[in-house]
Amino acid sequence: MDSAVFENVRQLLLSPRRIVVTSHVNPDGDAVGSSLALFWFLTGLGHKVQVVIPNSFPSFLMWMPGCDQILHQKEKIELAKECIASAEIIFCLDFNALNRLDVLEESVRNAQGIKVLIDHHTQPAPEFDHLISIVDTSSTSEIIFDFINAFNEPHLIDRQVAECLFVGIMTDTGSFSYACYENTFSIVARLIRLGIDMEHIHRLVYDTYTESRMRLLGYSLSEKLRVLNNYHTAYISLTKQELRRFKHRIGDTEGIVNYALSIKGINLAILLIERQRYIRLSFRSKGNFSVNEFARRHFNGGGHRNAAGGNSYTDMERTLLQIHDLLPLIKDQLNY
Ligand code: 5GP
Ligand code: MN
Repeated sequence: MDSAVFENVRQLLLSPRRIVVTSHVNPDGDAVGSSLALFWFLTGLGHKVQVVIPNSFPSFLMWMPGCDQILHQKEKIELAKECIASAEIIFCLDFNALNRLDVLEESVRNAQGIKVLIDHHTQPAPEFDHLISIVDTSSTSEIIFDFINAFNEPHLIDRQVAECLFVGIMTDTGSFSYACYENTFSIVARLIRLGIDMEHIHRLVYDTYTESRMRLLGYSLSEKLRVLNNYHTAYISLTKQELRRFKHRIGDTEGIVNYALSIKGINLAILLIERQRYIRLSFRSKGNFSVNEFARRHFNGGGHRNAAGGNSYTDMERTLLQIHDLLPLIKDQLNY
């Protein structure tokens, strides 16, 4: 972490402040975990902190310490905007551009508070006052650990902070199967020493499928998976009607794209989900092919080299046609 930037941010926190911590739309384990960990730490330092996110988080995170205090409800959006407008500091976690804040984008953009970005995605937008952007790390939660650890207030890093950070690191590394660094494991060792129960947390996050979510996964794999061996690509598309049939809840499609990538010889996997007015895309790749670049160039999105997302503002049929048109152009890059 750049020590000059850290010092600037530390200076901001020397007296009690009104602080908002926010993260991206459709928040995942890292978004919620890093936000809550920072919430507990800053509250411990004596600040008045409110976590605000643009929409709800998946039910498998609804046990996390402090999650009941997050402002995310549609009917409380005006309150969320007021908190943002009156905050002296706004911590922006786990995203790299304000458009990822969806319904809160304009409020944060227009807010007077000092904006501090703490994130691990590439190419952060120039919209923040202080940037803590580290790409070669597992997760925003890993950066948050190093950030709060640098304050030298060890009593403020307790078991509930550790649980939040562990969720973020575990979910962003696919349970420690990618994006892990030496530092990742050093931090996890520290979290274990703080008393977290790793097995229990893993079960709370991953072993909570509803029957209909499990059947949606089964249906996706048996009926909707298309494997294009020629292009080392596999994709799954799900329409609104199909989601309704399986009583879809937020978070239910999370992880499906990884199954497509785990096929031998497949280096690009895509999940397409029909939303109200657009198609949401999730990309995963193995090796050198950058889905970040691909999502940026063609689908108004971005992310990391091997995991990215984007949107297509047309219908499913046209989006699939576009993908079929693009594959021949990237075929050579996918052949390894
Ligand atoms: P997912 O496919 O799980 O939604 O997203 C994969 C990764 O890409 C996550 O790290 C997520 O934060 C990032 N990501 C997803 N959608 C977008 C997007 O529209 N823009 C950008 N910049 N990043 C995204
Ligand atoms: Mn993350």
